[in-house]
Amino acid sequence: MIIVLKPNLAKKDERAVIAEIRKLGYKPHIMRGVARTVIGAIGDEITHANLETLTAQFPKAVESVLPIQKRYRLVSREAHPANSYVRAGKQVIGGKKFQVMAGPCSVESEKQLMTTAVAVAEAGATILRGGAFKPRTSPYEFQGLGEKGLKLLAKARRETGLAVITELLSEQHAELVAEYADILQIGTRNAQNFQLLIAAAKTGKPVLLKRGLSMKIEEWLLAGEYILANENPNLLFCERGIRTFETYTRNTLDLSTIPIIKRESHCPIVIDPSQGAGRADLVATMCKGAVAMGADALLIEVHPNPAEAWSDGAQQLTLGGFKQLMNDLKPFIAAAGRE
Ligand code: PEP
Ligand code: MN
Repeated sequence: MIIVLKPNLAKKDERAVIAEIRKLGYKPHIMRGVARTVIGAIGDEITHANLETLTAQFPKAVESVLPIQKRYRLVSREAHPANSYVRAGKQVIGGKKFQVMAGPCSVESEKQLMTTAVAVAEAGATILRGGAFKPRTSPYEFQGLGEKGLKLLAKARRETGLAVITELLSEQHAELVAEYADILQIGTRNAQNFQLLIAAAKTGKPVLLKRGLSMKIEEWLLAGEYILANENPNLLFCERGIRTFETYTRNTLDLSTIPIIKRESHCPIVIDPSQGAGRADLVATMCKGAVAMGADALLIEVHPNPAEAWSDGAQQLTLGGFKQLMNDLKPFIAAAGRE
């Protein structure tokens, strides 16, 4: 930590601050400038009290306390300079192969899911998405088929060979969902539900962590840290749009997170342009941008008949639209050095 002292401080006040830093278990290094003094406090912030309270303890002497270490460790690139890979079924996310996860917003019926699964597999998707437990804004909206939906996802996996990603909505369901899924999705509304993150991590399954609706990148990285800190190295970050003042789109898909997550972390980054834009007509363009910018995978909503979807109809691609998109993405995937 760096402690910046106020200018023209009496020696006695400076000594009191230094004594407190020592008392809290840190080694102070004093740097005297022309106008003011700065103290570098060396020590482990995890095992010792945080020095941020010094401003409150010495309001006349301490101007500010600045951390020099990042608050996230295990997810940071510093901890693991090489990119990490996440295995889901037979697929590897974060490697040379660009991965596409596709399927309906919600699992609605056997026919709807099987039709979609077969079509997205044929078009080149490798992972099937579909919500069995749905986080709906209104309690009167379709809440998902629950375990029946999970069973349908498992059936679709058996028949198509696709890996399966589905949302884990509650700690209570951690074991149940992990039994059926290859990847657990943590939704935007639960991105800082820390007990749920711990429960997801403990299943040992890969976890796809959506960014919270109004979550800063540092908070998102720290939420991801909960997965790695609970001995599960299989973390995927997923940007799905944040809430801004804009209403033209459902959310504002923040593609700047691709280079930022790549710089700050070794974990793969997935882009969800469906929740991100909330409009099927914008999905293809956002996908091309995401591939070109270095995303590792896409999460795309696809439905045999979006107009009749039980959730998120406006943003789901048709089966034909998805096939077209997969073709159109080929040169972008190649240009990004992926397969
Ligand atoms: C979804 O993927 O259908 C979903 C509900 O996602 P989010 O949590 O990003 O809104
Ligand atoms: Mn959805």
